[in-house]
Amino acid sequence: AKKIVIKIGSSTLTDEEGNIDKEFIKELSDEIRKIVDQGKKVVIVSSGARIAGVSTIGKWSRKEDIHYKQALCAIGQVELMDSYRRIFWEKQLHVAQILLTKDDFGSKSRTLNIRNTLFTLIDEGVIPIINENDTVSVDEIKIGDNDMLAAYSSVLWGADLLILLSDIEGIYDKNPKDHEDAEIIYEINDVEGIKKEIDIGQKSSFGTGGVSTKLKAAEHVNKFGIPLAVVKGKEKGIISKLLEGEKVGTLIYE
Ligand code: ADP
Repeated sequence: AKKIVIKIGSSTLTDEEGNIDKEFIKELSDEIRKIVDQGKKVVIVSSGARIAGVSTIGKWSRKEDIHYKQALCAIGQVELMDSYRRIFWEKQLHVAQILLTKDDFGSKSRTLNIRNTLFTLIDEGVIPIINENDTVSVDEIKIGDNDMLAAYSSVLWGADLLILLSDIEGIYDKNPKDHEDAEIIYEINDVEGIKKEIDIGQKSSFGTGGVSTKLKAAEHVNKFGIPLAVVKGKEKGIISKLLEGEKVGTLIYE
């Protein structure tokens, strides 16, 4: 794979206290530096704006009102990008922010503009970091979860591989957080079939997707010939291991 999209879930990006996990971003920057030096290209899709907003303005965290949520995202997005910018620059990597909504993928001219910007950034060696534009996203124009945003972005860019960094090693036959005997599924070639076989339990508190959106994202990118991998984001060197062909998570390709 030469063109790789890496999606980072909220739980991967934060620590136990709900703060941005700087150590994780540092690890990620090491991995990306390595990949870039091998001549590969990377686009990041990052969640975590809202949780970063909560950790910045803690006293708002209990409000469930939509405008408070959007305000928290507006605060957290800056915190998030600040962390990426500082830490990536230690590895001489420039980053750029791209905020998108569903509309951006629906209109030809907008899609073309995004694609041109994306290609320009990447040609110049900059790492684009994509997130949903929560400030303008009311339900009607929302993609809703970053697994799908990552899938749409992968297709738009023409990626060779989409990697979802999750808090879980891969997709299991049942939720491993509730079942000790859950078994990981290393390869999925039939998403429809697997949906009937596995038990998709509760999603995590801050991840909005869960396993069903990961499967939906896989179905979407697979249609365009792009494989999708689900791996544990916080495991050291996980991206390199995956790219070297190690069996480190779930690979979905049908
Ligand atoms: P992220 O935001 O890190 O991408 P999500 O919270 O959206 O992750 O989804 C991953 C979570 O889905 C896991 O932490 C796990 O608790 C839950 N889950 C439910 N059923 C399964 C399953 N069959 N296999 C793996 N994870 C599962």
